[in-house]
Amino acid sequence: MNDDFKVTPWEVTGEIDYDQLITRFGTKKMDQELIDRLAGYGELHPMLRRGVVYSHRDFDWLLDQYDKGNRFFLYTGRGPSGGTHLGHLMPWMFNRYLQDLFKVNMYFQLTDDEKYLFNENLSLEDTKMAAYENVLDFIALGFEPENTKVILDTKDIKLLYPLALKVAKRVTFSTAKAVFGFENSHNIGQIFYTSIQAAPCFIEDALYGKKTPCLIPCGIDQDAHFRVARDVAPLLGYPKPTLIYNKMFPGLTGSDKMSSSQPQTTIFTTDKPKDVKKKIGNAFTGGQVSVEEQRKLGGRPEVCSVFKYQYYLFENDDKALDDLTERCRKGEILCGECKQLLTKRINEFLEEHQRKREEAKERLHEFLLPDSC
Ligand code: SF4
Repeated sequence: MNDDFKVTPWEVTGEIDYDQLITRFGTKKMDQELIDRLAGYGELHPMLRRGVVYSHRDFDWLLDQYDKGNRFFLYTGRGPSGGTHLGHLMPWMFNRYLQDLFKVNMYFQLTDDEKYLFNENLSLEDTKMAAYENVLDFIALGFEPENTKVILDTKDIKLLYPLALKVAKRVTFSTAKAVFGFENSHNIGQIFYTSIQAAPCFIEDALYGKKTPCLIPCGIDQDAHFRVARDVAPLLGYPKPTLIYNKMFPGLTGSDKMSSSQPQTTIFTTDKPKDVKKKIGNAFTGGQVSVEEQRKLGGRPEVCSVFKYQYYLFENDDKALDDLTERCRKGEILCGECKQLLTKRINEFLEEHQRKREEAKERLHEFLLPDSC
């Protein structure tokens, strides 16, 4: 069993064993029965068909509630420490799919306070600027202001603070230490912070006086925060927040997570076509050392970052993906050709995304909560 990996809200390292994470965190596998049930609401997203969205907490309960006519709302977010990359877009795209499928409200939290507290090199101005850049990418994915609102922690603290206080009063320092590994050297803002991340789970009570169930689709790395929120929710008379977790979007180096701290191997939403070409050109593949060997032995798509990009985001057609797998294994396609195909796809996507991102600048105000909240 591979134990040599770490997945926390602040650090993801090593080769992740996702099945083992289910045991480690105590979540449930998104099994076939649940996937079949979801298919009854509309077309399944490729991330569900392919196991990219793979684990949950009480999602079956949430669907029972929905079937009885009890609506839920969606909540996800971003810790704004820099530009948005493809790995950030992936869960937001899945949120968009769920919002379309179930026609529910969506709240997007930008934790500028968190990134300030946890990163010595960032000022509050830095995290606020990053939040502005990140939210443009979120809006560019096609969310509508009628049912989608953006929470910026330092701006909307008046709304969040009473909820966060209720949470904070019920989380002991001993629990925070056990869940997050805090030590004496951590600043006291870091210790309090999880209660701010829990607050949007109960936001419709503050906004509309309704204890609406909440669904949080996010990366499995965020589980620690929501374990705490789920323990506290019943003590406050709220339903436990429900979660569905996706795997981490892979890096171009063959690692399990794309990381902003490695800009040369990370594709940002503002990258130019020539940057994308260069980054994909240098990507780690499962190809052989020479053309002859590749033709003879074939490649290994299971370890190839170029293949994983198609699998996670850029090839929605399952049959086309199977064809690519087969051609790779048989040595019928070479890595250079494969990289060209992916580069073209990413650049087409980014061209459209960047256009919508520009439009989002004019529409941002429509997504903000009024200051009086
Ligand atoms: Fe990866 Fe394509 Fe090379 Fe196969 S041919 S190893 S999928 S880049």
